[in-house]
Amino acid sequence: MAIIAVDMDEVIADALGRHIEHYNAHFGKSVTREDTLGTHLRHVVPVEHVEQVEQFIFAKEFEFFADLPVMEDAQQVLLNLHREHEIFIASAAMEVPNSFTAKFQWMAEHFPFISPMNIVFCGDKSILNADYLIDDNARHFKRFRGQGILFDAPHNVKVTGYPRVKNWKEVERFFASRVGKSAENTAGKSAGTAASRAR
Ligand SMILES: [Mg+2]
Repeated sequence: MAIIAVDMDEVIADALGRHIEHYNAHFGKSVTREDTLGTHLRHVVPVEHVEQVEQFIFAKEFEFFADLPVMEDAQQVLLNLHREHEIFIASAAMEVPNSFTAKFQWMAEHFPFISPMNIVFCGDKSILNADYLIDDNARHFKRFRGQGILFDAPHNVKVTGYPRVKNWKEVERFFASRVGKSAENTAGKSAGTAASRAR
């Protein structure tokens, strides 16, 4: 069993998609996800919109975070992983402090099998004592003591140095191959022990 910490925005919640939708509706624009490849929404909008984009002013923080779409397959894969591993949801929610209540309610609605005791709202994620951290922001991996797993997002396409997963099916395969390997190792070791005993 491993301890797996999972980020919220852009990993289990499609915050970018909804952010773009709100932005386009509010300003009558037609920004797409592709426009944000290798960068962030705040860098592709006119300078006079940056502050509003950063602060979710047009979207109202509470409504925004309460109503985010769930990333495809995140519920099913996390439910399966939850049977074998300890799952924590870790959000750097300090970046938008008004989002706490909405994020907490969103978790209860979409991931009821995750105990509230396993939800962590934090600033710096290096404090997490987990074996794995699945996150779209590689900056959280720098001082993290476990293995960072980079969840693919338009802004991180150029980031290297960490295993990358493109979606939740790939997360499932990542852990299936690890479990397979450790099971093989264990089987190999016990076979070796049995063989040495037999000798
Ligand atoms: Mg994130």
